[in-house]
Amino acid sequence: MADRSFDVMVLGAGIVGLAVALKTQEKGKHVLLVDQAEAGSKTSYGNAGIIERASFMPYSFPRDVRELIEYAFNRRTDAHYHFGALASVAPWLFRYWWNSEPKRYERAIAGAKPLIENCLSEHEPLIAAAGAEALIRRTGWIRAYRTEKKAEASLRDAEKLKQFGVIFDVLDKAGLAQREPHLGDGVIGAVHYKDPANVSDPQGLSLAYRALFEKRGGVFLNADAKSLREEGKEWRIISPLGTLKAKDVVIALGPWAQEFVRNFGYDLPMGVKRGYRMHYGITGNAVLNHTVYDADHSYVIAPMTKGVRLTTGAEFAHRDAKPTPVQLERLEPKARKFFPLAERRDAEPWLGARPCTSDMLPVISKAPQHKGMWFAFGHAHHGLTLSAVTGRLIAEMIAGEEPFIDPTPYRVERF
Ligand SMILES: Cc1cc2nc3c(=O)[nH]c(=O)nc-3n(C[C@H](O)[C@H](O)[C@H](O)COP(=O)(O)OP(=O)(O)OC[C@H]3O[C@@H](n4cnc5c(N)ncnc54)[C@H](O)[C@@H]3O)c2cc1C
Repeated sequence: MADRSFDVMVLGAGIVGLAVALKTQEKGKHVLLVDQAEAGSKTSYGNAGIIERASFMPYSFPRDVRELIEYAFNRRTDAHYHFGALASVAPWLFRYWWNSEPKRYERAIAGAKPLIENCLSEHEPLIAAAGAEALIRRTGWIRAYRTEKKAEASLRDAEKLKQFGVIFDVLDKAGLAQREPHLGDGVIGAVHYKDPANVSDPQGLSLAYRALFEKRGGVFLNADAKSLREEGKEWRIISPLGTLKAKDVVIALGPWAQEFVRNFGYDLPMGVKRGYRMHYGITGNAVLNHTVYDADHSYVIAPMTKGVRLTTGAEFAHRDAKPTPVQLERLEPKARKFFPLAERRDAEPWLGARPCTSDMLPVISKAPQHKGMWFAFGHAHHGLTLSAVTGRLIAEMIAGEEPFIDPTPYRVERF
């Protein structure tokens, strides 16, 4: 490799690092993208594929005591926890609970708003330039329910989103059957959110972004980010091809970012919410036209390149603890009643770890103690959604331009 010197080095080639690399390149920077694995092969690999243009309300921690007691029994399908992990995740969970108090939660909503508003429009030019249009469905997603109680809660949530201009249809049983003729198990209706887009192969999108990055002159390299050192005014990394350097470095290491930045003196209140995924065939001639959220049992089924993808809610555990796909085992029989799923198509459930901050907002920030170091992580349930808008913000800050939205809510100094 002829190049040893770059303007910007991006560590982590998940969907966030890829988007940061592309948007930074658009500012005329020569960019090195580093990952120890293939692009988009970790958390960005197995997600539900929603570019969530309707998700203006971050996932808050439950505050209802009855609900909390149910969680304590560890029998729910939306959340599960490893008892042995509780002591170490408690400080983060406590702050998450504290930030979910209604007044403080308003701050999370206000912070999420400009990011969500721009999430899809920032992806669009990348999708077009990467020739990835065939991977995108612009059909929104459907929240289906079986009971009047769930219907009321779903409509209440949808009404709240009207203030953000979110577009949705409320469907009765017949209306839902027209859009999704093969949903069963007593569904009585749904809310269909129209703004979000869906990616039918999330890693396919990552690979298309990687190819675009390389076509535009960027360099992708397999190396260990842990070799990063500051020397004089430069950042250096040891790679199999020798020492590579750059003036700026962006940390986009998803669920590995917290421990990485701790080595540089930044102790951040973060944790992971693990989630599982399985693909299925479809029985007979049934079709699934949309991504559908089962509001009664809290899981998603989505039509994907490899079959119907089922993704689960949150598991609170150590990032690297052995997989315990109990939620998937509990959900699968319910999902089979809901939609005619056929055979499992993956040998094992896939497991990913959503990187979560305690205030439900990502970290998109300059590192205050280190010149030329930038943070882009902590996107929790919405890393695919927020990757492109994060990329633009980081690129503008590195280029010394006026950021197109106020970056204050995402600064690391807030912790
Ligand atoms: C079940 C599930 C469903 C989800 N559904 C959605 C959804 O529908 N929509 C949505 O927007 N989001 C969704 N998410 C969240 C989304 O997947 C994540 O927020 C996003 O993938 C995080 O991207 P990232 O680039 O920050 O992290 P990652 O994709 O994990 O990328 C980090 C990269 O850093 C690399 N790395 C780590 N350590 C080192 C090192 N020492 N040296 C070099 N490289 C290193 C890793 O190899 C990896 O490639 C879902 C998540 C899960 C688990």
